Amino acid sequence: MPELTVYRNSPVPRPQVCMYCGAPSTATQEWREVNRKPEKGGAGGTDVVPVAGGDDPVSAAFNLLLLPLALWQLLKGIVIGIRAVAGWLSRPTPPPSPPAPPKEPPTTRVAVTTCERHRRFALRFWWAWLGVVLVLTGLWAWAIAETARVVGTENVDFAVSLVMTAIVATILLPMGVGTWRFLAGPVIVDRVTEGTVVLARVRQVYFDATGLKSTDVGG
Ligand SMILES: [Zn+2]
Repeated sequence: MPELTVYRNSPVPRPQVCMYCGAPSTATQEWREVNRKPEKGGAGGTDVVPVAGGDDPVSAAFNLLLLPLALWQLLKGIVIGIRAVAGWLSRPTPPPSPPAPPKEPPTTRVAVTTCERHRRFALRFWWAWLGVVLVLTGLWAWAIAETARVVGTENVDFAVSLVMTAIVATILLPMGVGTWRFLAGPVIVDRVTEGTVVLARVRQVYFDATGLKSTDVGG
């Protein structure tokens, strides 16, 4: 299914063409999508610095010899630190800088254009889901009632096949609607990057009618 890439800095002109059938559009659903960096996988980890063990007598003696030197270095460090703190305290105070205005996250204006017929295109899938729920509820109610009626008798074939039908329908019907929606569903925001918003399931007729470019993925 072709995709329509909307660039943040140069938004495409909005041709008044239905994204589903290529007919002149009468309705525009417009909103702003917040651009953000694609999530990166947790990289890195802490560096492991090898530390010399020094548990043996030789390095113990060596450390003892170095102790006066280490103390001298420490003292020197403290003096330098005190001097730095004194210098920092006596520094001229800089003029207070005005607080930076809060930075608005960048957004991209996205629009889905539709004709009158496809204005509520997404709605048909909600009806389909509702239909699936009703059919399955009815089927299971019937199967359970039938099973309860024939339990303990010889004549259970119909009840068993009803239960089997209900089980198969419970698997196949949602799969069917899901596949239908995946292949021919409403236009959606597929992904957002720092500079673009990619709309998926924009129909080919839209690109044919507008001359806009599309990137075709997955056939
Ligand atoms: Zn249409």
